[in-house]
Amino acid sequence: MIDLRILVLGTGGTIAGAAGSATGGTYRAGGLALAAMLEQLAALGLDAQLVPQEIARIGSQDIGWPQWQALHAACAAAMDDPAITGIIITHGTDTAEETAFLLDLTLPTTKPVVLVGAMRPADAVGADGMRNFANAVKVASDRQATGRGVLLVMGDAVLAARDARKAATSAIDAFRGFPRGPIARVTPARIDWFAPPHRQEEPAHYAFPDSLPRVAILAAGAGMDEQPVEALLGIGCKGMVLAGMGQGNAPACVLGALARAAAAGVPVVRSTRVDEGIVDRNVEVDDDALGLVAARALGPAKARVLLMVLLANGITDASRLQAAFDGG
Ligand code: ASP
Repeated sequence: MIDLRILVLGTGGTIAGAAGSATGGTYRAGGLALAAMLEQLAALGLDAQLVPQEIARIGSQDIGWPQWQALHAACAAAMDDPAITGIIITHGTDTAEETAFLLDLTLPTTKPVVLVGAMRPADAVGADGMRNFANAVKVASDRQATGRGVLLVMGDAVLAARDARKAATSAIDAFRGFPRGPIARVTPARIDWFAPPHRQEEPAHYAFPDSLPRVAILAAGAGMDEQPVEALLGIGCKGMVLAGMGQGNAPACVLGALARAAAAGVPVVRSTRVDEGIVDRNVEVDDDALGLVAARALGPAKARVLLMVLLANGITDASRLQAAFDGG
């Protein structure tokens, strides 16, 4: 039997949140130290040995470049360390999909990497964090969890990073997957994987960059004009993601301004503000003529992550950008 040794990277979030009241409506995300969380877990009698490393103790709304850099470095080191069999990252749920996807794009798939969060603070009645964490330990301990990219465990569901998305502000069951729903369920007895691993022994898709360019999300709304596009160009945006209406639509004047931005070397990706669905090329918007890229299944937040990584890796040409959005 292999000795299971899991690196646990703590970043904060509600899973480490302290309300100071079992029923209170306010709380501080990241109030609880990682060591205190792991002490509570030790009482659950899990099989794996957990190795804590605190990266931050913040709400994930404040996560950005410094924490991403630290997380990537810690994960990359753990991938190379034969004593570590898997990685868990405790994370706030607000931006879990962004961190998960960034790491998914920039890490090899040789060991399980599992993000886990919670919707209720650790000291609330009916807190979900310990349950989610225990499930994350099970998943990170499972050999079948490798070769699938970065995973997100919430409740009893396992989602792939590329699919995962926060879809509710406070419900326990806050995450959905699109285009795939959960790729596995954790049951009390086992983990049911719905398909075999499809990314066995893959190297990282992209190099983790030295910095990330400024890429903004532009929310479309009825009756808007093109001035927000001009404003974003004015602050030096290197790329833009449209959170468009329906299939990535926007008023004609906005699409015109976005096309001018693309022609001036600021790539533009069209995604949708709708909860789910594919944004395809050249359906309602003539992407070929306007020089735009369709986000396909990625929502605005993950489209922005992918565009930042691509631009940082020197990929700026619309057809190469489109190929990356089509992929995987
Ligand atoms: N705002 C919190 C965070 O993302 C929410 C949560 O963790 O559920 O850190």
